[in-house]
Amino acid sequence: MSEAHLEKLNENQRRAVEHGIGLTDAAIGGPLLIIAGAGSGKTNTLAHRVAHLIVHGADPRRILLMTFSRRAAAEMNRRVAQICALALESNALALADALHWAGTFHGIGARLLRDYSEQIGLDPAFTIHDREDSADLMNLVRHQLGFSKMESRFPTKGSCLAIYSRAVNAELPLEEVLGGFFPWCAGWSVQLRDLFAAYVEAKQAQNILDYDDLLLYWAQTVSDPLLADDIGGRFDHVLVDEYQDTNRLQASILMALKPDGRGLTVVGDDAQAIYSFRAACVRNILDFPAAFNPKADIVTLDRNYRSTQPILAAANAIIDLAAERFTKNLWTERQSSQRPRLVTVRDEADQARYVVEAVLENREGGAALKQQAVLFRTSHHSGALEVELTRRNIPFVKFGGLKFLDSAHVKDMLALLRFAQNPRDRVAGFRLMQLLPGVGPSSAQRALDLMAAQPDPWSALSEMAPPPRAGADWTAFVEALMQIGSAAAGWPAELALARLWYEPHLERIHDDSVVRQADLLQLEQIAAGYPSRERFLTELTLDPPDAMSDQAGVPHLDDDYLILSTIHSAKGQELKSVFLLNAVDGCIPSDLGTGTTAEIEEERRLLYVAMTRAMETLDLLVPQRFFTHGQHPQGDRHVTGARTRFIPAALLKFFEIAAWPAVRPEAASAVRARQVRVDIGARMRGMWR
Ligand code: ATP
Ligand code: MG
Repeated sequence: MSEAHLEKLNENQRRAVEHGIGLTDAAIGGPLLIIAGAGSGKTNTLAHRVAHLIVHGADPRRILLMTFSRRAAAEMNRRVAQICALALESNALALADALHWAGTFHGIGARLLRDYSEQIGLDPAFTIHDREDSADLMNLVRHQLGFSKMESRFPTKGSCLAIYSRAVNAELPLEEVLGGFFPWCAGWSVQLRDLFAAYVEAKQAQNILDYDDLLLYWAQTVSDPLLADDIGGRFDHVLVDEYQDTNRLQASILMALKPDGRGLTVVGDDAQAIYSFRAACVRNILDFPAAFNPKADIVTLDRNYRSTQPILAAANAIIDLAAERFTKNLWTERQSSQRPRLVTVRDEADQARYVVEAVLENREGGAALKQQAVLFRTSHHSGALEVELTRRNIPFVKFGGLKFLDSAHVKDMLALLRFAQNPRDRVAGFRLMQLLPGVGPSSAQRALDLMAAQPDPWSALSEMAPPPRAGADWTAFVEALMQIGSAAAGWPAELALARLWYEPHLERIHDDSVVRQADLLQLEQIAAGYPSRERFLTELTLDPPDAMSDQAGVPHLDDDYLILSTIHSAKGQELKSVFLLNAVDGCIPSDLGTGTTAEIEEERRLLYVAMTRAMETLDLLVPQRFFTHGQHPQGDRHVTGARTRFIPAALLKFFEIAAWPAVRPEAASAVRARQVRVDIGARMRGMWR
């Protein structure tokens, strides 16, 4: 065995990696917290720690590793295998899949709940609702209770779900959630209580779990000491990345699994806490050390290995103005004379053009598209850019927007698989039945009611009379469903059956069915990578694969593509060049929130997260006019953009200030304009030499 894998680590990283190893009792040390700023090597250290544990004899099947996304888990698995290979000086060990339990909290929860379904009285065939399905079910219940027809406006399905979810995840009473976060809905607390009770009942009757249930049921399961012991006993080591964005339920699950903290390692940065809108609780990480007796060991890291000094200085300056912060500023040895750029553009169309030009210049200079990312606060901010990229034939992949899985035809196919898996899933059934000509909402409801009333919904479906105008289509639907549901064809062969049934409907409903058919083939290819229908549905719902990433192996995309991502989805990533769209007040901070200090502070951290993704160049774009895209309470409009308040005048010195296009009416001096243009060119070319 060699220790070569430890050589690159700095002293504190190494201390974290070796924590507890070499002690007498089977190398399981006490609780450990690694807390440090962006790019200081937290995730890298965690990967080394896992590998080091394995190299020192820990059983990889008894390691539970939880990351923020499935993508991050896959990357972690790869790194761990690589480091192990280095340490053991052999590639023979195929450790790539050795970490059986690497995934997201929700994904791991789903797997454990299926394992323990019998003990907790859950039907293991449960299906999982994504946020949209959950909102649809909430809506259905809302209608049934007559709340949608109230005189004054009852909260929308989206608001109802947000309130419900917040109460569940933060473990807070409804009144407190309403008063604190949704004051405009406070008058509806009685109705909301009824609605939520009915929603919970509907989920149970339909054998459905939503995202929140995965954590809630898991927490409930481990609140039983015997089960907690049993589940906790399956893992010698439990490690969590991005701990600052966990919520109270997640923390309580961890504490139940490892009450004394032995074998527990958590990693995070309070300055990057950006999920409090989903009830994440930054106190989890701050309170972690004191939750144990004796207290957890803390390792802090202070050197940033990711960004050049000017980028880091600007990011530090912005987060320095934060009201509260535990992690300290970082330093770096990566010198550069290039400050991050703050570029004023006329509008979003110019913003898109600027980004495309700059990206292409970077590519000419040797930076692949994949090493560049365009980030934005909310998914719809990239609209103009997507149009421009398409026009210029530049391939791109968008994260955080879920374009592919959100499209109607893909949702139809998934609904078919889900309904075949769980015939009590009304949202899926409702969607499918209405694809049939002659079946409207009321006949679909009737059919679903008949199914729900029977102990065996399948026989209820096959025996019922088809809706009057549906005839042969109905029969074909029932047959296809039965065939798939029986699993006779096997996985993934049944996907072809599903497509065979669906294609005629696709052609009838959509004019562009050829394009959509290609999507379905793509879906089939992605699906074939999963061992079973159930695993496919679970993982796809919880954390969709980057439909077009290398792992998913999508054939019709070029190998190189530009990355478009919400800031939230860019967490933990790093790229040579980063562009941030709409660095204006109203976008960041977003004007969607209630504007409380806590919310504004979270937006500041978001900007910090965005900026600290950049390794070599960073451009913040400030359009002077932008469109509100359905986000403005008083209707869509063009509004005048002002630079984000997080970069006050005093911080301008950290940036290179520019305007684009160079010749603007207000930049009257031709000489100045020319200089700006020359600067841009020089930067783009010089950077990659
Ligand atoms: P974030 O807060 O954004 O998640 P992080 O703290 O997890 O960042 P990493 O992504 O682990 O940071 O590391 C950032 C970069 O620094 C990576 O490219 C990593 O390989 C590199 N790095 C980390 N530690 C070292 C080291 N000791 N020597 C050289 N490079 C390092
Ligand atoms: Mg990280």
